[in-house]
Amino acid sequence: MKLFEVVKASINTREAAQVYGIDVNHHGMALCPFHNDRHPSLYVLDDHYHCFACGEHGDVIDLTAKLFDLRLYDAARKLASDFHLAPDKPLPEAIRRKMQHKTKAQQLRENERLCFSVLNEYRRLLLDWEKRYAPQAPEDVPDKRFVEACHRLPWAEYQLDILLQGDSYERGETVSELTTDGYIRKLQARLRKERYHEQPCLD
Ligand SMILES: [Zn+2]
Repeated sequence: MKLFEVVKASINTREAAQVYGIDVNHHGMALCPFHNDRHPSLYVLDDHYHCFACGEHGDVIDLTAKLFDLRLYDAARKLASDFHLAPDKPLPEAIRRKMQHKTKAQQLRENERLCFSVLNEYRRLLLDWEKRYAPQAPEDVPDKRFVEACHRLPWAEYQLDILLQGDSYERGETVSELTTDGYIRKLQARLRKERYHEQPCLD
């Protein structure tokens, strides 16, 4: 067994963050130690972390390396020692099973990230449309982009909220809905086209 694999499979990122002094709230959010954070921007999950403000992200070993300014190998050794792991001994059955499931978990995580970034971009576009195409006079026929913004903004914000703050079950449900029939990929393709045609609103 390799040290990195054992450490990643055995040590929960959120738990390690807390042991190392990061105060993670019950939404999984914390003040980011990697930039001057005033409102919690660091999202800490069981197997990785991500800062929505400065973009820092990684797994439990990256986190430890970054926090203590260590090379990855030394960070992994520190974790193994702080959490009393013995990488040379055979892994407990539960952890071995967890490692086999990892690819599925990774897939889910990738889908989650994709959904989040596409929805976030969609939200930005709708906010822009809501302003830019708002009717100028009450008798104007509303532009279809304005109508879409009115209908879809609350929806997009709701989905983002779940992805950001929901528990793993809620996030999983949302991701599976959004990926059904390739919805999120189609939205991504559409956003690319819109970006090509539009200039961002400057006011
Ligand atoms: Zn940050």
